[in-house]
Amino acid sequence: MDTLHALMKGPLPSLFFCIGNPVVGNPTQYMMEEAFLDMNFPGQYITCEVEPNQLQTALEGLKALKVAGGNVTAPFKQLVFPYLDSFTESARLSNAVNCITLQADGTYQGDNTDGKGFLQSLQEQVGNLSERRVVLFGAGGAASAIAVELVLCEVQEVILVNRTREKAEALVQRLRGVTKTTVSTQAWEGTYQIEEDGLVVVQATSVGLFDEKRCIDVAFSQGLQDVIACDVVFNPTDTAFLKRAREVGATTLDGLGMLVNQGVLGLQNWTGMVPDALVMKTALEKAFKL
Ligand code: NDP
Repeated sequence: MDTLHALMKGPLPSLFFCIGNPVVGNPTQYMMEEAFLDMNFPGQYITCEVEPNQLQTALEGLKALKVAGGNVTAPFKQLVFPYLDSFTESARLSNAVNCITLQADGTYQGDNTDGKGFLQSLQEQVGNLSERRVVLFGAGGAASAIAVELVLCEVQEVILVNRTREKAEALVQRLRGVTKTTVSTQAWEGTYQIEEDGLVVVQATSVGLFDEKRCIDVAFSQGLQDVIACDVVFNPTDTAFLKRAREVGATTLDGLGMLVNQGVLGLQNWTGMVPDALVMKTALEKAFKL
């Protein structure tokens, strides 16, 4: 149904949002608008920069407008919990919400689709992950969401390595015993050496975002043909971390697939429709060229 039909005959076009601070440089609205056009769905998506002390007011306003759903980005992923009615397991375990959906009973549910989007990308590349050990750098919103999905899909082991080790320890406390996956932390003192073939290594810190030369403090040993090195950073897509990994023979996975997949999952949550992932990926690639 197109927008004109929705305006004249109803139901009214659905409203969606992204809230964060800052939001300049966030291409989600463009990706969603392209998907709506392609789906012939009368959705309107707005990107809003919210002052941290206005978060409650902003969410109450959005609810009063009966928004159908939206995205939450930094610094609000951990802060929206008091203002929502229910949570998925992914949101609860990661302690982060990136996707909010209006339910049939008028309540709002918080979900986390970041980790699911990552896992989908990884599984498309690697297949079965049950025998894999994963070293995950970071313990912020993205890393937490990824750690949760790796545990829920029961990889063999997740080793969390974060600059501030206490944050990794807190995440381990939440995830230990949830499934049979072993979860632990390792110290990050000096250069972290990746030397075991067969590992999945995930760069989920913010290092390298908007800076193609910057890399976390890691080194790869030679001859790691069975290592899968993944980066959550999506701009640039070919990060210094991924380049280093390729030099020793590792397979690489960039952050663009995760970004597209979490958007696809969000749209499915909101509309029940399955958007075309390629349309959304093309929109992002166009946005990143600006
Ligand atoms: P957070 O601010 O929640 O976490 C940042 C993480 O980066 C922390 O673990 C922090 O460590 C670490 N970090 C920051 N600076 C350094 C440094 N100099 N050396 C080592 N570690 C460092 O951010 P998010 O988790 O929300 O985002 C992380 C990245 O993921 C961003 O680039 C974001 O764009 C990307 N992202 C990608 C998505 C996708 O779909 N591809 C989705 C969501 C995010 P510490 O705890 O010590 O501060």
